[in-house]
Amino acid sequence: MSYIQYLKNQGRDPNLATLSLYLRLCGQRVVDCGEERVLELYHQLLRKVKVLDANLSESVILALTSTSQWKLALKHLTNIRRMCNINAKVYSAIVTAAFRNGDYNTGWHYLETMCQEEKIPGDSAFLEWVTQCEKAEDVEEKQSMMETLLDKLIHYEIFPKVPVIESIANLFSKGLGWSYLYVKIPKSGRCPACNQQLHQLDISEAEFKELQSEYVPRVLHGSDIFRSSSPEEWHKFQEFLEERGPFSVVVDGLNASYLAGKKPLRQRSVMLKQVVEKLCSRARNGRVLVIGRKHMRKWSEVDFNAVKKMADIYTLDNLTKDDGFFIYAALQSGQGTKIVSSDMLRDHLYRLGDGPLRETFRRWQRQHQVLAVPSVAGVQLIEPASFSTTAQNQGTTDWHIPYDDGSPRASYQLPKTWLCTQANPHSSSRDTHSVIWESTVQSVPFTEADNEKSLVGPSLPSITVL
Ligand SMILES: [Zn+2]
Repeated sequence: MSYIQYLKNQGRDPNLATLSLYLRLCGQRVVDCGEERVLELYHQLLRKVKVLDANLSESVILALTSTSQWKLALKHLTNIRRMCNINAKVYSAIVTAAFRNGDYNTGWHYLETMCQEEKIPGDSAFLEWVTQCEKAEDVEEKQSMMETLLDKLIHYEIFPKVPVIESIANLFSKGLGWSYLYVKIPKSGRCPACNQQLHQLDISEAEFKELQSEYVPRVLHGSDIFRSSSPEEWHKFQEFLEERGPFSVVVDGLNASYLAGKKPLRQRSVMLKQVVEKLCSRARNGRVLVIGRKHMRKWSEVDFNAVKKMADIYTLDNLTKDDGFFIYAALQSGQGTKIVSSDMLRDHLYRLGDGPLRETFRRWQRQHQVLAVPSVAGVQLIEPASFSTTAQNQGTTDWHIPYDDGSPRASYQLPKTWLCTQANPHSSSRDTHSVIWESTVQSVPFTEADNEKSLVGPSLPSITVL
């Protein structure tokens, strides 16, 4: 800032880059700089340039959103959108400003927009919402506002970070008078603090039938599959399933082979063979279907034949996007059929739209997706959790909210850390022998890079699970 003063003393105007940076800094420290200074710089910048580029627009948005004139930022948002993607930092600044200024509809609108674009809202947006909850007049309103936030966490499968979960815990405790503990939920899905069983991921017969019948028109017709594969291929595949099905496990062959990373092609076929071996050794009477591509046959005839002995293989044309085919095969095989893939299938979820079908698909996926991950011994299969891993309540007096404690985890791993909060004191029902509950959060520090990550991790995991 003294550099700007220096330029002023010299009677010189700062150049655009300097002005842009200065504006950004003033926005971050509006308490020191004062709102008038930020707005004055903003107008100075507008006088200098007619059309702001993406970088200048970003500086302007980050600065304006710290002032009462935050709505001026919205037109610059439209401007950036014309040039490039809007990043999470910019979206979060808008959401935070909207919440702070009481324009909740606009705030939620942009929060939903960014989530649909698979960008994670920054902590500031959630923290500001909790501050708004605290300001609410009565307890019912506080609770209802908090539930609005929890609904979004559920819908977009967001795991709040430590500062956010602490502020949520604080609101439940000070605002609503509830009791809370931080817990690690074991595989059984039973909370060690209150002994409650987390929701099972059951899907009713009717829901499954709807998923079976709606998957093709909603997901496959809207995807590349029907553009890149011929109708004959689709019919041939359906005939194959009728003849050879049902299967107990369907493997996305190409995805499983990619676990080998950039190693030679031979390694890819070894990886696929290991996945199928593991599946067969675990369920001796199970019927495994591997969906692959024609070119995979060339990788290694020996391995390919070995897989063929253990499983049915269906190879699609090389150009076919086979992710839809393997899900279709699993759905047609019935409720119990599992899928093996490390893809999070987010594009499928989005193609299902915003209704209950998407929720059903997510539950089905969580219940049936076996993850294959590389390990020291070659490959490891991770069975799906038996309980729902999003925030949940069983009545109006309890919530279990999963949060991200900052421990390193791959994109396919879910955090094990939860906040257990309830209207009644915990002490009466707590399992006193358990050591996996705490009254303070145990956090692992986040790095800057974590904040920039998008919702979608790498589709092929690179972390080795021991
Ligand atoms: Zn609990």
